[in-house]
Amino acid sequence: MTQQRKIAFGKPWITDAERNAVLGVLAGDVLTHGPQAHEFEKEFAAAVGGGHALTLSNGTAALHLAYWQLGIGVGDEVIVPAQTHVATVHAVEVVGARPVFVDCDRATGNMTPEAIEAAITPRTRAIGLVHFVGMPCDMPAIMKIAAKHGLKVVEDCALALGTRWDGIHAGLFGDAGTFSFYPVKHITTGDGGMLITRHGDLAQKISKARAFGVDRTFAERTVPGVYDVLSLGINYRLSDINSAIGREQLKRLGIILERRARNFAALKSGLADLEHVAILDATAANQINSHYCLTAVLDGALASQRTEVIRRLNAAGVGTSVYYPHPIPRLAYYREKYDEDLSRFPNAARISDQSIALPVGPHLEIDDMNHIAQVLTTIVRDLMCSKKS
Ligand SMILES: *Cc1c(COP(=O)(O)O)cnc(C)c1O
Repeated sequence: MTQQRKIAFGKPWITDAERNAVLGVLAGDVLTHGPQAHEFEKEFAAAVGGGHALTLSNGTAALHLAYWQLGIGVGDEVIVPAQTHVATVHAVEVVGARPVFVDCDRATGNMTPEAIEAAITPRTRAIGLVHFVGMPCDMPAIMKIAAKHGLKVVEDCALALGTRWDGIHAGLFGDAGTFSFYPVKHITTGDGGMLITRHGDLAQKISKARAFGVDRTFAERTVPGVYDVLSLGINYRLSDINSAIGREQLKRLGIILERRARNFAALKSGLADLEHVAILDATAANQINSHYCLTAVLDGALASQRTEVIRRLNAAGVGTSVYYPHPIPRLAYYREKYDEDLSRFPNAARISDQSIALPVGPHLEIDDMNHIAQVLTTIVRDLMCSKKS
């Protein structure tokens, strides 16, 4: 009897290096705001190629601090994608600003510069974009629009570690870029996040705001326990235990991205001839996708069969996910608060209702990709046949 293959959608890649790093921190005296977080920041900035990097407790905290410290608040509008993780929009809502939803592009799931410009009003203060499952938004064009209208730009890069446009890493175009180290993301620290910014003054403000707004760090205090508080702050630090894990993960980022790119290419070519299955990708030479997952959209006669396709994939041992299950304005909280005309977001709805996120993570081999392609092909052919008869 052949054993059934089990392909997990996502799997944290934890080695002895991470285990030893954690034990190393636990053996010392400093568990938080110590040297590990500081080193992780320096190494992260080096890995993305610039900016000031700040460790934070998670990606949502990073988004919240970005809007808060950029001074966005009540009475302001922020342009956001309808198709994203809810945290992209919650961060806007939490500072009291109003999210203005924009539909995404059919081919990539990203907001286009044209759609962004069309949503600008006299109250618009910022653009809060997401690089959809790792495909880069057209940042040069978006930054041009932002400059023309005096808008801040926050890039949600939670799935975009490794994403680049013209060689520049996502997060380094706008005023701030935010990353997540939740277990299934490109690298993990358990929970964790990072904010990068080109602006030294914003980095200073965020560095204070993430630790109660105190005027001097633990290391800067001459008399232990004595400090003043100059501004409002919160506690969004990342501990040295988490940071030590992140430093080890970061060392393997190159391998992680290579494997993801290799797996994505194999799966994409394995599905290329499949009718009614569209694959989202960024294909221009100047655009680098970080390949978080492969989004397969079921169109035509297959569109209404998504649940059945997922059920059969899972039954065959292929793990799947959905990114993201509803356009944000369709989620109960946003529906009740803003009552948007949902027909304005057809491309976002197509991804929510007709797409399947397939795994391409570094825990998988080419062999697994061939298997997924073969299983999905069989399912699709079978469903289309039974439809005709
Ligand atoms: C995961 C994710 C977040 C939230 O990050 P956390 O670290 O879980 O808070 C935000 N935006 C996007 C696009 C994400 O995928």
